[in-house]
Amino acid sequence: MEPDFPAGALVAVLTAQPIDRMLDYRAPEGGCDIGALVEVPLGPRKVLGVVWGPGQGGFDPAKARSILRLHDVPPLRDEMRRFLEKVADYTLTPMFQMLRMTVRAPALEDAVRLGYPPALEDAVRLVYRATGAVPDRMTPAREKVLQVMRDFGGLSFTLGELAGAADVTPSVIKGLVKAGAISEEVAPKDLPFQRLNPAHPGKALTDEQTAAADALRTSVRSGQYGTTLLKGVTGSGKTEVYLEAVAETLRAGRQALVLLPEIALSGEFLRRVEERFGARPAEWHSGITMTERRRVWKMIGTGDAQVVVGARSALFLPFQDLGLIVVDEEHDGSYKQGDGVLYNARDMAVLRASLNAAQVVLASATPSLETWVNADTGKYARITLDARFGVAVMPDMRPIDMRAEKLPGGRWISPTLQGAILNRMKKGEQSLLFLNRRGFAPVTLCRACGQQVACDHCDARMVEHRFQNRLVCHQCGANRPVPDACPSCGVEGKMVPVGPGVERLEEEVKAVFPEARATVLSSDLFGTARALKDRIAEIAAGGADIIIGTQIVAKGHNFPKLTLVGVIDADLGLQGSDLRAAEKTFQLMRQVAGRAGRAEAPGVALLQTYQPEHPVLRAIMSGDDEGFWQAEADQRHAAGVPPFGRMAGVIISSPDLQAAFDVGNRLARNAGPLLQVGAEVYGPAPAPIARVRGRHRVRLLVKAAKGAALQAALAQWIAIPLPPDLRLTIDIDPQSFL
Ligand code: ADP
Ligand code: ZN
Repeated sequence: MEPDFPAGALVAVLTAQPIDRMLDYRAPEGGCDIGALVEVPLGPRKVLGVVWGPGQGGFDPAKARSILRLHDVPPLRDEMRRFLEKVADYTLTPMFQMLRMTVRAPALEDAVRLGYPPALEDAVRLVYRATGAVPDRMTPAREKVLQVMRDFGGLSFTLGELAGAADVTPSVIKGLVKAGAISEEVAPKDLPFQRLNPAHPGKALTDEQTAAADALRTSVRSGQYGTTLLKGVTGSGKTEVYLEAVAETLRAGRQALVLLPEIALSGEFLRRVEERFGARPAEWHSGITMTERRRVWKMIGTGDAQVVVGARSALFLPFQDLGLIVVDEEHDGSYKQGDGVLYNARDMAVLRASLNAAQVVLASATPSLETWVNADTGKYARITLDARFGVAVMPDMRPIDMRAEKLPGGRWISPTLQGAILNRMKKGEQSLLFLNRRGFAPVTLCRACGQQVACDHCDARMVEHRFQNRLVCHQCGANRPVPDACPSCGVEGKMVPVGPGVERLEEEVKAVFPEARATVLSSDLFGTARALKDRIAEIAAGGADIIIGTQIVAKGHNFPKLTLVGVIDADLGLQGSDLRAAEKTFQLMRQVAGRAGRAEAPGVALLQTYQPEHPVLRAIMSGDDEGFWQAEADQRHAAGVPPFGRMAGVIISSPDLQAAFDVGNRLARNAGPLLQVGAEVYGPAPAPIARVRGRHRVRLLVKAAKGAALQAALAQWIAIPLPPDLRLTIDIDPQSFL
């Protein structure tokens, strides 16, 4: 086939370098295609770029340099390039940064910078696979290696990957090869993924599930864009249903992407996909190895990876023909990227699908208000699963009125909750105590002077972590030993922890139920994702009587023996002035309660609260979900806030508070471009977290009507010269206001 551009033609190349325009180069020998990934000279360096279109000219063509070489990966397709452009426009991100995000994933950039022929182009490599034979001599290191291989069920590894995953030296693996427990083979590089078979027999669906699956299959067959909210209580079989949409996508010869909140990316989920399709899907998240990343990236581009299960960044993979995107737990806050390009993967999934004539399924038991409203107004289709699969029913939810409970100081488990836990223990069932606070105590106070220990660099209190015996700042990670003397007044022996974290709750549990096996699940207590997953599997198998957990337990784990959930502080999320406080509390409480009673035994959720009459808590317990969303929607509508109005946050940060305020004031005074589109500007004001890592933070909030052309106005508004160490970040559709 003729290349899009013959050798010597001028082409515009987008590089991942901080330059605000494309650069012209000459197509190399043999020509190149639009979207090709190339290496180009830039000054004395070689950098990575993408051929974006015909050359733009406007300079002496005799000076144009040549593209050095083409990378051996498929060109970025038209819809992918348009997607990057649209995300850039929407989030006000420069294009070079979008490209950087796209190519950083497979580390193509490093390959260019380091000047080695990228591993992508090596033809063969050595791979290691378990033989099933048991070595004569077993050591803990050897056991770790074999365990990793069992975990991945028959997959082959490179030496580096295996050593890394098992945390052993390569010599341990070589030893196992000699002992016959591991085989060493030459394999072609970039093995394609095993084909997934949509005709592989799946589970027999219930009538309700079948109807839902049929509706999704019809949408997929349309070959057009569309978004569907798949709403169903935890355990109703949403996963089973959307896997049928995946099957239909495979039948149509297209690719499917399933996005999960990172923490939910468990082996359990991959096994379910494997069970349904007879082969494992490709994985994409921060835990996969670099070699695997490159392989996945490349196979997605050639269509050899049919299904990808991944975290939010998988949305930026260069699919050959993406036909379906599932966003599971679509309300989850982790879909919003917190730094760099501030995109919301759920919203950008809808954008990407619309450019690809693809379908989107947004699955949740407790959808975001945005999605609920879109389904309510008919912008999205909606499918509801009402019944839990099998005999499991939604747990009974009841408040424990803490005003009526007699609790001594320093104790948080009410007598009523204690009684309920004891009851479960007698029956051999599990209880979960939920408290969304990591560490031992959120506050460390000096009883002599009354000061709380704060971070030196942030506007945050230091949180005691007793397992580590340190105070930790949850903003910046700074930490130090728990002091004996007060950092403010110097008096010794007067420091006391105030309030509970999960570690402290464990202490209480051990005191109250000395015979119980108690365990804490908190993200900071596990060195690796694998360790956490292992622990969760152990608990699911019955390896604990009382589980004490933070938010991570709320997400998608299946504990069949769990029949009681106790929420230690149901009021926690309702404090503060966050626009989404009610919505988030509703979602979290519902999700946590959904952990109870997943198998045969019915579950109960008990919520400790000082305000049982609060409308949000009443809605949670009454089970009137639709009523809650409607009321919340009405309130937001009246206030003209998202999803009925638009918002953008501007954070200005600087080591110098005055400089940050000066810029903020300048912006506030010169808001002409915003006023023209009818937007209003609030601030500048110190951000709720006024200092992070030694940088002062000042924020402005922009509010506009739903249809306003906000991005263009914002871009014009912030185009002012800034002092060198000042950073200005725009957050479109901010999820939180910190
Ligand atoms: P959700 O995604 O809504 O939380 P799942 O799809 O995970 O629900 O289903 C909950 C549990 O019930 C899973 O263990 C699943 O395998 C099982 N399940 C759901 N539907 C069926 C079915 N039709 N046949 C057999 N098992 C099912
Ligand atoms: Zn800090």
